[in-house]
Amino acid sequence: MDSPPSPHLLVLPYPLQGHITPLMQLSKLLASRGFSITFVTTDFILKQMLKARQALPADDLHRLGITLTGISDGLHDLHERNCMLQPLDFVASVLFMQTSFDELVGRMVQEQGRHISCIISDSFLLGSQDVADKWHIPRIAYWPNSLAALACCISLPRIMAESSNLDPFKPQVYEEESQELVTCIPGIPEIQACMLPFHTLGGENSELWMRHHIESQIQRVNKPLCFIVNSFPELERDIYTHFEDLLPSKPILPLGPLLPSTFLGGHDDPGTGSSLCDEDEECMQWLDKQTPKSVLYISLGSISTMDEKDLLEFASGLLASNQPFLWVFRPASCESPPDMEMPIGKVIKWAPQLRVLSHEAIGGFLTHCGWNSTLESLSLGVPMLAWPHMLDQLTNCWFLVEKLKVGLRLELDESKKVGRIGVENGIRKLMQEEEAQSMRDRASKFQHLAQSYFKDTLASSLDSLLKMIVSCEAKN
Ligand code: UDP
Repeated sequence: MDSPPSPHLLVLPYPLQGHITPLMQLSKLLASRGFSITFVTTDFILKQMLKARQALPADDLHRLGITLTGISDGLHDLHERNCMLQPLDFVASVLFMQTSFDELVGRMVQEQGRHISCIISDSFLLGSQDVADKWHIPRIAYWPNSLAALACCISLPRIMAESSNLDPFKPQVYEEESQELVTCIPGIPEIQACMLPFHTLGGENSELWMRHHIESQIQRVNKPLCFIVNSFPELERDIYTHFEDLLPSKPILPLGPLLPSTFLGGHDDPGTGSSLCDEDEECMQWLDKQTPKSVLYISLGSISTMDEKDLLEFASGLLASNQPFLWVFRPASCESPPDMEMPIGKVIKWAPQLRVLSHEAIGGFLTHCGWNSTLESLSLGVPMLAWPHMLDQLTNCWFLVEKLKVGLRLELDESKKVGRIGVENGIRKLMQEEEAQSMRDRASKFQHLAQSYFKDTLASSLDSLLKMIVSCEAKN
């Protein structure tokens, strides 16, 4: 008798690096448990993934059980994609992706007769829920940020009710460094309003869009089978244990940190194979020549930008600190690169970030607090200097500075801009002063917790996910 076919999943990340990497890692974990995975991304991203030097060849992925498939995002050129965070382009591409995803699912189901057991798609792609509903396929939502950020978002109605004068989308809340405390989020006894994950930086249109997006998330929060979160319970224990107060009927499945096992004390892993850029290999040899714990790694993620003035202030403070550094400066992040001699540092376009963070020469990470970077740094025991810009980066900064005490916040000047003195002082505190060692000790505690989760608990969390999908399939 033929054995039943393996469950087939469609995995759909939002088309940005920080969403693609963890979902590719999750796909690999699920493929290793016998699932067959179709990893769906935009044609543009697919091309970048296949072109990047360190990419895993599509044949290797196929052997693991993962097939890559492209859909259109409706954008025509690179310029439009670089503006993806502008609300109109963002909304347009998200809507277009919904249509192309619907067509793909339709083709698979109707023309090819392929069974789809479940869709795992990014929470940012709300329209994928409509596609799942239309084709009667269960959907699991992947939440790409922390549990804390999810708790804040779902608590928005409570936050608005708690203090009727507070509109957490308005820039004033952030510009004035509001000391107003929000105390109604289950699992977060108190957080300053200015650290809530709602500030977009992009003006009124972005604010409107963000408000609409969060409200739509809340309206549909009970639709997916469950939420997978790239976090682990020990890291966000208080919030995790209080989640039932927020979402009584919805399982929350922390499955992180979604990193290749080699970085969590596991066996060899071919890497995520999902970098969209060529990683600089030479920087690893440069790091080999540096003293242990002496180098500051600097990266502001895959989408942050800086104006020329900020860049000059930042670079001047960095040089004044006299600290060796490895700085990822993406050419697209500023109109003109810093025109300065960098005698004790190295500037590169894109780093093998996990390998860099696990190198013994690294003593600290100056980060924009994207959730992946934060989680990677914690999982590899590296303390952080936090320079958050917007959205959940603010909440992540609060989490690592005030809650975990594994980092400090970069002090801005009176006009809330980056200034050379704040940069120089922040780097000294992180890398050279007494406090540095205690932050490093606390960070290594989280490294051990991440490794324990990976070794002792991840397998049973994956089993729960598997059971949930299979039992839902049986009911359908
Ligand atoms: N990253 C990398 N090399 C770099 C800079 C970033 O591989 O030079 C990776 C990093 O490891 C992380 C992702 O890009 O996995 C960035 O995601 P994050 O959530 O930190 O920030 P975002 O780019 O979404 O703002």
